Amino acid sequence: MAKGDKVTLANSGWCKRCGICVHVCPTDVLKLGQDRVEIDDIDKCIGCENCELSCPDFVLKVVKVNE
Ligand code: SF4
Ligand code: SF4
Repeated sequence: MAKGDKVTLANSGWCKRCGICVHVCPTDVLKLGQDRVEIDDIDKCIGCENCELSCPDFVLKVVKVNE
């Protein structure tokens, strides 16, 4: 986790909509869409990596974002 890190949907097609990432995100960045997880408000992401570490299907990746 570093300043400017944000979540990305690295492998969105692998999402099975289990909802774990939504549950573990402390700032409500993620939501479940019709088919897969979606980023609801990227500005709230603090780069904590909870979602990446908790997703069983390697869907999410927290990366450095240039602002
Ligand atoms: S990195 Fe942390 S704050 Fe950002 S979406 Fe994942 S769990 Fe939420
Ligand atoms: S934890 Fe992974 S598989 Fe489950 S909803 Fe989130 S992104 Fe999809």
